[in-house]
Order: sequence, then C-alpha cells, then structure tokens
Amino acid sequence: MRAIRVSETGGPEVLRLEELPDPQPGARDVVVRVRAAGVNPVDTYRRAGTHGRPPELPWIPGSDAAGVVERVGAAVTGVAPGDRVYTDHTAVRAYAELMLCRATQLHPLPARISFAGGASLGVPYATAYRALFQRGAARAGETLLVHGGTGGVGLAVIQLARAAGLTVIATGGTERGRDEARRQGADHVLDHRAPGYLDSVAELTGGKGVDLVIEMLANVNLGRDLGLLARGGRVVVVGSRGTAEIDSRDTMTRDADIRGLTLFNTPAEDLAAIHAALGRGLENGALSPVIDAELPLADAPLAHERVMAPGHQGKIVLIP
Ligand code: NAP
Repeated sequence: MRAIRVSETGGPEVLRLEELPDPQPGARDVVVRVRAAGVNPVDTYRRAGTHGRPPELPWIPGSDAAGVVERVGAAVTGVAPGDRVYTDHTAVRAYAELMLCRATQLHPLPARISFAGGASLGVPYATAYRALFQRGAARAGETLLVHGGTGGVGLAVIQLARAAGLTVIATGGTERGRDEARRQGADHVLDHRAPGYLDSVAELTGGKGVDLVIEMLANVNLGRDLGLLARGGRVVVVGSRGTAEIDSRDTMTRDADIRGLTLFNTPAEDLAAIHAALGRGLENGALSPVIDAELPLADAPLAHERVMAPGHQGKIVLIP
C-alpha cells in the first residue's frame, strides 16, 4: 500500500509518500480501506516534534479517516466487510491506503455523508461536542461566542450549538470564512482581524454578556474573553499556542470558570456518548462537515502548510 511516512521530525518535507507492506489483521483487528484522511493541526505539531506526545518513528500520521471495511479478524464482531465507517481520535496511521483499527474505534458513516466529511469527525466534531456540552455545559437559550468559528472545530461548534438551541456569535478572519459561518447557522459574525471587533458583543447580548466562549486561540484572546462573560459564564480553551495574560478579578466578579480540554483525556464513556450524539446528528441532517480542500495523499506536505495558514474554512482532507 502507499502511505505517508515520517522518519525524522521536521518541516512538512519530512512527510514522504512510500510503498509499504499491506497491514495484516490479527484476530481482533479490522482493515479499513481509507477513502479520505483528515488533516488536523495536531498532526503538524507531532510531525514537527513540538507536541507533548511525540510520535515513535518511523510514523504514519493521522487519526481521522473514513472508508470501507475491507477485512476483519476472526474474533471481530459489530463490523463487516463493505461497511462505511469513520474513525475516532484514538485510531492511528490514517494517511495511508489501508489502516488497521479495532472495531471500537470505528463508527457507522451514514450514506448522506461523503468520505471527506467522514474524515472530518474524529478530532474536530468530537472536540466541538466535548467543548460545548461535556466541558462547557451548554444549555438551550444560552449565548455562545465561538472565537475562531471558521476552521474544522469552529464550524462543527456552530452546527452543534444551533441544533441545541443556543444563540451563536462566531468570529472569522476572512469574508469567505465568515460567510461560511453564517451559512452554518451563526446568528452574528465578527472579524477577529478588525480593531475593536468585540465591542459589539455587549450590545448583541443586551448588555448581559455571553454565557459560554469556545476559544481556539487562548494565548491571544483569553484575557478579553473573560471580560465578555455573563455572570456564571464559562470559557472552554480548545486551542492555545502560547501563554496568556488575564485579570483574575474578571473571573471573581462574574463567578466565571476557565475550563481546558484535551480530547485525548476523554473517558471512554464520554467518548461513546459523543459518537452516539454525532451519529444521530449526521443521520438527521443537523451535522454536515464543511470541506475546504481535497488533496491527493502525495500532497500531505502542502496540506500541512495549508492547515496552519490562516483563512481556510472547514477541513483539509487527503485522498489516498
Ligand atoms: P483550523 O481548522 O486550522 O482552524 C483554526 C481557527 O482559528 C480558524 O477558525 C481561524 O480563523 C481561527 N483563528 C485564527 N486567528 C484567530 C484569532 N485571532 N482569534 C480567534 N480565532 C482565530 O484548526 P481546528 O482544527 O479548528 O483547531 C483549532 C485549534 O484547536 C488548533 O489550535 C488546534 O490545535 C486546537 N485543537 C485542540 C484540541 C484539543 O483537544 N484541545 C482538539 C482539536 C483542535 P481564520 O482562519 O478565519 O482567521
């Protein structure tokens, strides 16, 4: 099979297309023919060697894939050859034509969702769901600010929050991204590159402030987020690329919480709940992943450059 393999950490050029032996399933393994693999920022941190969980080399990147079950080991139950599936974030080696998984890492992919869409779920949608509901305790009727609403996680947050009855304020850095956020259900959109763009939040919330912020770039925004909160408000930190300065009095005066999350910390029962909820939303049309670009597997270096560049909207996926 063809796969992208990394033999030394470094820039995007260390992602090399190689011919490797097909994986052979043990009794409890499933072989998935990958039709699309999702590219996440975490793949770039691990490739560069800057992530807290560095990969063991040589390494085939990627956790998010969608495809068709090709073979199953003798002891496998619950999935069968021909099933359309997507992987959750615990799967590994997605940048390949074939991928070895456990049945527990696979979830049914409804016919209405493309393989590219299916490759957008394992990290982005699961993170969005966990941030909103399991860490953020979002409730219908509340107002949400999704600070960074145009990427893989942000657009998923918008779709999930709308379906759950929240009012959504989303930010984006380009007109194209903000249009997409609006199309996906944001009630109000703001330009996070414009000076004073948060000044209108008080007015948009009738002076009350937002109940919940889902934050994609906490090192830049956390200090200002706290000043936007209603009493009892919460900020959930999903993304941060450095240190932040805050005025801790902003949490005192509002009885506010700052809550972090790392998807890899999600307990198994919470993960099962996440994928049960996503499955329903994908089936009934509430959730539809937005794809920014589909690139051939050989273009993994370009995909890594693009996922870290500002201004894309939705997901970048690789097609083996
Ligand atoms: P992505 O698709 O690259 O999206 C990045 C988002 O950040 C875009 O919406 C971008 O908007 C926005 N952004 C850029 N500048 C911003 C600013 N000044 N203020 C607010 N937002 C800004 O990445 P993703 O997959 O959605 O992931 C988002 C972040 O969460 C990444 O840092 C990723 O590493 C992290 N993450 C963490 C977990 C976890 O377990 N904690 C899981 C998944 C992702 P424009 O491009 O429109 O400017």
